[in-house]
Amino acid sequence: MPQIPASASGRGYLAIPGPSVIPEAVLQAMHRPSPNIYAGQLPEMLPGIVTDLKNVARTKGNVALYIGNGHAAWEAALSNVIAPGELVLVPGTGHFSEGWADMAEGLGAQAQTISAPNRSPLPPEKIAEALRADTEHRIRAVLAVHVDTSTSLRCDIAQIRAALDDCNHPALLMVDCIASLACDKFEMDAWGADVMVAGCQKGLMVPPGMAFVFFNERAAAVRAKMPRVSRYWDWTPRADPDGFWQYWNGTAPTHHLYGLRVALDMLMQEGMEAVWHRHTVLARAIWAACDAWGQGGLLEMNVPDPAHRSHAVTSLRLESPQATALRDWTEQNLGLTLGIGLGMAPPGDPAWHGFFRLGHMGHVNGQMIMGMLGGMDAGFKALGIPHGAGAPEAASTVIAAG
Ligand SMILES: *Cc1c(COP(=O)(O)O)cnc(C)c1O
Repeated sequence: MPQIPASASGRGYLAIPGPSVIPEAVLQAMHRPSPNIYAGQLPEMLPGIVTDLKNVARTKGNVALYIGNGHAAWEAALSNVIAPGELVLVPGTGHFSEGWADMAEGLGAQAQTISAPNRSPLPPEKIAEALRADTEHRIRAVLAVHVDTSTSLRCDIAQIRAALDDCNHPALLMVDCIASLACDKFEMDAWGADVMVAGCQKGLMVPPGMAFVFFNERAAAVRAKMPRVSRYWDWTPRADPDGFWQYWNGTAPTHHLYGLRVALDMLMQEGMEAVWHRHTVLARAIWAACDAWGQGGLLEMNVPDPAHRSHAVTSLRLESPQATALRDWTEQNLGLTLGIGLGMAPPGDPAWHGFFRLGHMGHVNGQMIMGMLGGMDAGFKALGIPHGAGAPEAASTVIAAG
């Protein structure tokens, strides 16, 4: 009898690091006729959305909302504070620090990158060294990636702030939290970030399409001195939630706002500490399983030190082409889609199949993670990929302990 693909029945799990799983309540909130954008519920909803976005980011500063993805957030943030010809410093973390640096260069800025070890964060002295060497203060901003979704490295943002302060360097600290916001703990004000960028399709559990730029008064003062900021990217009118009409520079993202309202309700109801804790426990369960598989097997976590791993995404190494074989097997047989490797291929081998990623951001719980790990375990067995035993048990022990 021909085998029915398991993905055709049962509920699948898209375990890639963005877009993430969308809660049913968010989908239902978005399933409605077009609302009036000039009056009524939609404009009235905006001030509360702004308040809760700031609660998620732990800031009393400002937030500008855009129709766009994470790349739009990068460009929006840079456009407000970096003029053509100005210099930015980019500590390497992987594919996404390179992407933000490239975006800055595309806008006519100069990017000074510090190359990334990709498996451990840059030593803070390297960043301090670059800042100290900049005696004329030509560096206008440090572009830091909190969690790099390619390597699954998590950086210490407060430590980069301390490096800037120790050197008495006036550069802005700009942080990419596109992967980490509402997953990994982040404290915008307490950690001293001046600008922070995020999207809605990862920890915020909404389909891709909205971008957020948070900024404090220091950053607003830099913006005020810019010779020119494009009308569309200018964050000033967008940070005034009372001005719904001029706010969007055109039509509002109507349905996204309804979805976002519900997603923020879910986060506020759970509480940010509980949200961070849930992601921490689930990440530790995944790491415990990976440690077990790695005992006498081929699987290896990209970041050896747990202190530097994200709680939103885990990047894994196997021997090429086994990563692709495993992803294909779990997708075709179980309805479980794992993430492709990104930006980590050895030079000259773009089709490298020795790297993959697990997304565990946003709307995830213990049964989804246990299902993902059980599915991977079955894949290792079915494909004869050498692996240590006891991975599901190791994970369930972590989840049981909470
Ligand atoms: C996803 C991601 C981006 C890019 O976001 P897009 O919505 O794909 O443009 C940038 N930085 C990080 C850290 C990301 O995880």
